[in-house]
Amino acid sequence: MELIANYKWRNWNDNLGCTADLYRPCGLHDLREAVRRASRKGRIRPLGNSCSWSPLVPTRGSLIDLGRLRGMHETSFDGAPAICVEAGATVRDLVQFTQARGLTLITPTIYQDISVGGAIAVAAHGTGLHTSTMSDEVVALTLVDARGDVHHLSAADGSLFDAARCSLGALGVVHDITMRCWPEFHLHVEDRMIVVDDVLGNLPDLLATYEFVELYWFPFTDTLWCKLMRRTDEPDVGASLADRLKFAFTYACTFASCNGLLPLLGRVAPELTPAFMQLAPWLTMTQGSAVAPASRAFHYQRAYPRCWDMSYGVPLADAEEAWRRTIGLIEHLARAASFPVNMVVHARFIGASAALLAPAHGRAICDIEVVTTRSARDADAFYEQWSGEMLAIPGARPHWGKYLLHPRAVRERYPQMDNFLAHRAALDPDGIF
Ligand SMILES: Cc1cc2nc3c(=O)[nH]c(=O)nc-3n(C[C@H](O)[C@H](O)[C@H](O)COP(=O)(O)OP(=O)(O)OC[C@H]3O[C@@H](n4cnc5c(N)ncnc54)[C@H](O)[C@@H]3O)c2cc1C
Repeated sequence: MELIANYKWRNWNDNLGCTADLYRPCGLHDLREAVRRASRKGRIRPLGNSCSWSPLVPTRGSLIDLGRLRGMHETSFDGAPAICVEAGATVRDLVQFTQARGLTLITPTIYQDISVGGAIAVAAHGTGLHTSTMSDEVVALTLVDARGDVHHLSAADGSLFDAARCSLGALGVVHDITMRCWPEFHLHVEDRMIVVDDVLGNLPDLLATYEFVELYWFPFTDTLWCKLMRRTDEPDVGASLADRLKFAFTYACTFASCNGLLPLLGRVAPELTPAFMQLAPWLTMTQGSAVAPASRAFHYQRAYPRCWDMSYGVPLADAEEAWRRTIGLIEHLARAASFPVNMVVHARFIGASAALLAPAHGRAICDIEVVTTRSARDADAFYEQWSGEMLAIPGARPHWGKYLLHPRAVRERYPQMDNFLAHRAALDPDGIF
């Protein structure tokens, strides 16, 4: 096991940091030893790939980095395929492993450079109303508690399992996770621009027609980019040369806009944001349809610039209201010459989750997120206001891993919080995690 004293940790977005002792265990035995040693010095935070915007990781105690635990093997659950993966493996590692075996995950994150342990800890998700979060695809996991004891948990453990599959790293360190997988299937993917009111006024129909739906809005435009996916038996004929060129063009434009032009605009000329946003759909997406394996179609995005990203899950019935409040706020601020959002508003739709602390716990949600460049003027004030707008919707709950304000204010929105804390008191009586 590697131990680095006084390690200077920063997160992916560079908005958080701390100095702490960092343990890098190489196996389960090492991990137990790391927990026992670190707990003698004070608090411990498990560390995935440092991609969260919210302060889930910083500590003055010790960090336990799972980065060396990346092994995985094929197994089965109730006769169906499953993968047992060590928590430090990235979603990318897992996707490649499943693809090579003719399998796919369902509703994984679009972004692949987070760890599986970190994804599970916050109930991360893709889109899909018939399924739920990645935590809901977990069928078993191994947890090391504050005493260094090992717990093999599954549905037979009842609510303890539902606490551990979205634990924010507060119950112990997850060593490995067994996730359900599905035989690879093909998706018919349509990318269409549709007038905002036509989409929002017909959401139930859209969600009934397509199994996987994502919506994007570039501020100050009157259409939504709708990514509409449904299963198909049609073959994957591969991308034509023209498609590949279009993809290369949109990738280059997205990369250049997000890493150069938009940050500059946000800093020196935010009033040009509305004009630039009119171009954004033409530069960053192409309308049309294609057939692709699900494991490829779920990870269509390539450019990930550093940015601010805040996200709320609202009950499905409130999806239209959440969208109208978001668009209304951005347009209201523009009338006062403030343009804090210069990237995109994005929504996904997720079925009810069994994980006690998942934003989707107990009901299906529309997850709506607002993304802007790090340099955007007035972004902090915007996120304060937008949080207020979302929290005015009674069932709204924030995404734990995104930019998060006032976490204590949402406690009463989690009917299972006391249950979760009772499990925490049993596994970690001294509050080490
Ligand atoms: C570019 C980008 C795109 C994203 N896209 C999506 C998306 O499509 N959908 C979505 O839902 N989210 C998305 N996220 C958010 C992301 O899913 C969460 O922030 C996730 O927690 C990050 O995982 P990580 O490995 O970086 O974990 P970290 O940020 O390192 O840690 C997050 C939490 O997980 C805990 N943790 C990590 N490993 C373990 C473990 N082994 N045992 C116990 N606890 C552990 C930590 O203690 C901490 O509480 C995105 C983030 C980024 C930066």
